[in-house]
Amino acid sequence: MFAKVFRASFSWSSRLIIRSVSPTRYCISSNRSFFVSMGSAMSNTTSTSTGTTAPSSAEVKFSEEELRKRLTPMQYHVTQEKGTERAFTGELTYNKNTGIYSCVVCGENLFKSDHKFDSGSGWPSFYEVMNSEAVQKHTDTSHGMKRVEVTCKKCGSHLGHVFDDGPNPTGQRYCINSASLKFDEKKKSEL
Ligand code: FE
Repeated sequence: MFAKVFRASFSWSSRLIIRSVSPTRYCISSNRSFFVSMGSAMSNTTSTSTGTTAPSSAEVKFSEEELRKRLTPMQYHVTQEKGTERAFTGELTYNKNTGIYSCVVCGENLFKSDHKFDSGSGWPSFYEVMNSEAVQKHTDTSHGMKRVEVTCKKCGSHLGHVFDDGPNPTGQRYCINSASLKFDEKKKSEL
């Protein structure tokens, strides 16, 4: 049954990436990469259950009414309901312009274009976060998997997941939904 639900392909690093072929695709890596990831990345994480984002520790909060007005349905689903956009569909996946990626909900700066790379996964990928204090990591056991979820520390919005199969110099791969990001083009000197 597993074979019917998932298909496999090889990522930029020739490591196994398993993608769901159902409408919801998962941003996951091979079990080997995953367990390596869980071994180190989990030392700085908190546990959460599945369900909607619950930013109890968030510095800023927005009403559902406001967010439904100013976000697209996909942006709302991803950031507030821990959704995942379909692979290869996000408008920022292949963006190679110079600039800063901020949280689409609260505007907090999260990633730099300098740290973006083509992972082949179908989602924007970064090997480093702009400021480690800007994000939080959580154990995510949804969909029968154990992954490390990444959220915006300021507003609690779901961003994506982080894995330990990224390139040098960090070895990290922040697999982030386009729908959770806003891109602002900058000059190289402004980064
Ligand atoms: Fe935010």
